[in-house]
Amino acid sequence: MAQLIDGKLISAQVLQEVAAEVELIGAEHGIKPTLAVVLVGEDPASQVYVSNKVKRAIEAGMGSIEHRLDADTTQAALNELIDALNNDPEVHGILVQLPLPSHLDEDAVISAIHPAKDVDGFHPLNVGALASGRPSLVPCTPQGCMIMLRQVHPDLSGKHAVVVGRSNIVGKPMAALLLQANCTVTIVHSRTQHIESLCRQADILVAAIGRPEFINADWVKPGATVIDVGINARDVDGKRKLVGDVAFESVAQVAGAITPVPGGVGPMTIACLLLNTTRAARLQLT
Ligand code: NDP
Repeated sequence: MAQLIDGKLISAQVLQEVAAEVELIGAEHGIKPTLAVVLVGEDPASQVYVSNKVKRAIEAGMGSIEHRLDADTTQAALNELIDALNNDPEVHGILVQLPLPSHLDEDAVISAIHPAKDVDGFHPLNVGALASGRPSLVPCTPQGCMIMLRQVHPDLSGKHAVVVGRSNIVGKPMAALLLQANCTVTIVHSRTQHIESLCRQADILVAAIGRPEFINADWVKPGATVIDVGINARDVDGKRKLVGDVAFESVAQVAGAITPVPGGVGPMTIACLLLNTTRAARLQLT
């Protein structure tokens, strides 16, 4: 049976480090690292995500500002708010909760955030910095995956990592971080041929697909480390249940280590958002 990589436990440790760093920044510079979260519209999942982020920020001793805007907010009004937050010296991190209502241009919004306050790490300058091996603010989910991987593999050098999924928020930055850690990286996606045999070659398998229990035990090399990023709702015995992209029960029989869903990558993402906010505060001090 695989070792469980406990995201709840590891994220609690990260949050403790964040709280200590918040205190240190306060003592050294007399400032309180502060995260501003912007939510446009009433998407129920986004409302839950935003509430959790705000709650955790407050628990870590940070400042937290929430802007909840109507679903019909214009691009100009949103840009104006981002501009004000960019210029507010008491705001260190800005997060605009995605997805945005369809009339708004997500790329334009991401690009409008000041790169030093871009705690999601999605601004083109931060994406470019990561791609060129000089990471600054790194996307939270893959950053959380790396922290979990390091618990099992302090040295990732030479490992073959296969990343399933090539999204800008998970798959691509995950691959860049693994490459920087000297892994040999393969990215597979919906057009990849022989995906199963490629996955079976992986020492490290990261699933970020968005398909419930897509990866089963036949896809996994015995002893491999499996990181399941997926969060999918599925009906199990008449109840709504969250499952990952990995068929946990069967894969755990084959893998050497595995993250659960829930309680794996999810809590790490929020912890890394707050970690990025303290880093952003430091960046703005330099
Ligand atoms: P996207 O939908 O943006 O990307 C999914 C990727 O999976 C695409 O690259 C797609 O390939 C690939 N894919 C889809 N179907 C297949 C298939 N049959 N075979 C191989 N590859 C396939 O999703 P995200 O990256 O945003 O999210 C992935 C999952 O992670 C979701 O379940 C999401 O909810 C979860 N998530 C969890 C987070 C957390 O904090 N734990 C944070 C962010 C996401 P192609 O490019 O060819 O279409």
